[in-house]
Amino acid sequence: MPVQQFRCEDSIIPVGDATGENAVECGSIALACADCGDNAGCYEHAQFCPICGEAICSGCAAEHPCAAKRYPESERPLAKPERSVS
Ligand SMILES: [Zn+2]
Ligand SMILES: [Zn+2]
Ligand SMILES: [Zn+2]
Repeated sequence: MPVQQFRCEDSIIPVGDATGENAVECGSIALACADCGDNAGCYEHAQFCPICGEAICSGCAAEHPCAAKRYPESERPLAKPERSVS
């Protein structure tokens, strides 16, 4: 399967355009998300994982395995089922 070439869909608002009505699409060659392979945006607009350095799309940012490691809360060991001794 050929690698799909994405274009960055971030909109760029020209300096001084307070309303954003003249925003244009970035259109730069975009990176593929390391997790889902979807459009992660161009080098300038992509989110990069601070741990593995891969580009991650906004949809995967919260579920990216490295990102998850940054939040110990989500790594809490599951509460052990209480065993009732009878
Ligand atoms: Zn993704
Ligand atoms: Zn861009
Ligand atoms: Zn990562």
